[in-house]
Amino acid sequence: VHIHVYANVALPDDIDYAHKFGADGIGLVRSEFLFFQNKKLPQFNEQVEYYNQIFTKSKSLHPIIRILDIGGDKIPTYMKIPKEFNPYMGWRGIRFLLKKKELFEEHLSAIMSAAVNIDYSLMIPMVSTFNEWKEAKGIIYQIAHKLKKPVPKIGILFEVPLALLDIKNFLPELDFASIGTNDLIQYLLAADRNNANVSYLHNPIDISFLNIIHNAILTAKRAGKPISICGEIAGNPLYTVLLLGLGLTRFSITPHNIPIIKEIISRVSFTDVQEKVIHLLRHSHHSDSTKKQVYNLNKELLDKFYHNFKTYFELIENSDV
Ligand code: PEP
Ligand code: MG
Repeated sequence: VHIHVYANVALPDDIDYAHKFGADGIGLVRSEFLFFQNKKLPQFNEQVEYYNQIFTKSKSLHPIIRILDIGGDKIPTYMKIPKEFNPYMGWRGIRFLLKKKELFEEHLSAIMSAAVNIDYSLMIPMVSTFNEWKEAKGIIYQIAHKLKKPVPKIGILFEVPLALLDIKNFLPELDFASIGTNDLIQYLLAADRNNANVSYLHNPIDISFLNIIHNAILTAKRAGKPISICGEIAGNPLYTVLLLGLGLTRFSITPHNIPIIKEIISRVSFTDVQEKVIHLLRHSHHSDSTKKQVYNLNKELLDKFYHNFKTYFELIENSDV
């Protein structure tokens, strides 16, 4: 089984690190960074320039561009957006773009204009319903048609629980799927990702959470569609073995961690790991015991290579998770 380790990037220079650390692709371009770097709304030409650089630097790394993900905690200061009582539950990602059609269309036009002879994909953030997906996809097709450009591959960043739980119904329409565990965890647990008082709940080894991820991966595999995880959990060496065991074959992570994640992957057998993790899922019922089991699992599976990663794994003993 080939395991892919992709890079998450935001600005064009990050792509140098993706190459340097041996990324197999660019699994997430956080395109909103251009909007945050600027003091005012980036003009069409500035956007084209940004994507030109992204595409030029990516070379053969096939970037997956996440379309503009603003709203929630991510609002550029120059944008006058009404204050929301509950921004995480509010006007974010695709919900925002579908109401700001001009901005959305200009954004897509900039991406497509910059994309000359390059293989790339578009990923849609914060999709909750099938209608949102259909509408967004329709607009992408329209713009491609208008500019006489090829339609790129299109996928969903699954971070809203309802959409992920319904992934089976989305899959036939998608080219690929990615799981945004950072937001997904906060929504599944109803715990704000930036609130220190509830951060103890953000436990990526919560057994119910792992079961949900496992089901999504299996469902995508059955449908023959690629699925990755691009949330922080995928780049944390503590969880590599666990995620492999859930059947994950595409990790999208911060470039600096690519070497260690690849090293862990190279040290274990995929079948062996899957067997052990499935056993853990069946026999672990609450997260306190899961923590110990994950620690033991890392130790057991990495066996004589364990000392290479010791400093990482000891963290699990002392951390909240
Ligand atoms: C996520 O939510 O997991 C994700 C990848 O997106 P971000 O952290 O940029 O919201
Ligand atoms: Mg997100």
